[in-house]
Amino acid sequence: EAARERLYHVNGSLVTPDEATVSVDDRGFRYGDGAFETLRAYGGTIFEAEAHFDRLERTCSTLGLDHGLTREDLSSRITETLAANDLEDAYVRLSITRGVQPGKLTPQPTVEPTVVIWVKPLARGGLEGTPVWEGPATLQTVKTRRIPDAALPAGAKTHNYLNGILARKELHDADEALVRDLDGYVAEGATSNVFFVDDAGLHTPTLEGSVLPGITREAVLELAGEASIPVHEGWYEPEDVRKADEVFLTNTTWELRPVERVDGLECEAPGPVTALLSRLFAERVERQCYRE
Ligand code: PMP
Repeated sequence: EAARERLYHVNGSLVTPDEATVSVDDRGFRYGDGAFETLRAYGGTIFEAEAHFDRLERTCSTLGLDHGLTREDLSSRITETLAANDLEDAYVRLSITRGVQPGKLTPQPTVEPTVVIWVKPLARGGLEGTPVWEGPATLQTVKTRRIPDAALPAGAKTHNYLNGILARKELHDADEALVRDLDGYVAEGATSNVFFVDDAGLHTPTLEGSVLPGITREAVLELAGEASIPVHEGWYEPEDVRKADEVFLTNTTWELRPVERVDGLECEAPGPVTALLSRLFAERVERQCYRE
């Protein structure tokens, strides 16, 4: 049987990749004027769906992008796309741009949004599955600094990913960038949040800094609290991460990814706290998505 072509959801219709096109005048293309979310379906259910939709809503409200679509509508488009591609365990990306508007930078109130959903298979992770990453990550502190919250609100997940791209471009033999803010404090990875463990417990940079509020980050903090692991959200320097006992990264696709080296210095990967939190995370996925 010939492999079926992947279907994309573009402005309300399921189309083949060839038909999945947007205008060159689209503001998402011209200016990065769009919001997006990366989500993950396990057994056909979106993990932490409400948290993702809450963040999307906050991003759109930051951009003043009134797309006029309900959560139910967006979520049924995702379900439709998964079903059309015969996928249950999948990566899902949802983008909403301000669409085409007459040629001025200043956004106009009337929005005909461009709404695109991409899905691709992602093997079930967690307890019974295999993580998407091949092994523990290596981290490298980069020169590129995180765009400050005061310039581009860090809580908004927009189409502007050049900051992360420039950070990744600096990497030599490392998987992820350790990105600092303008004052030199650790912010996050190019597409992940950073955690480390020392004698005092679990640490991650505070959201008061320029850090994307990761959905996985939030779940891990909750799980650590429930497991009575002391949790600290603070201001840290790369040196604190380098000398930690354990380091791991979080994002929707990686879940928790242990780190084995930071700027050439080794750490246990996974260490006991990372292993415990990975198991608790897998159980949360199991409870939310696989058990009816
Ligand atoms: N920080 C950045 C800059 C990211 O792009 C991502 C990936 N969305 C994350 C953190 C992790 O967020 P999440 O756990 O919601 O995937």
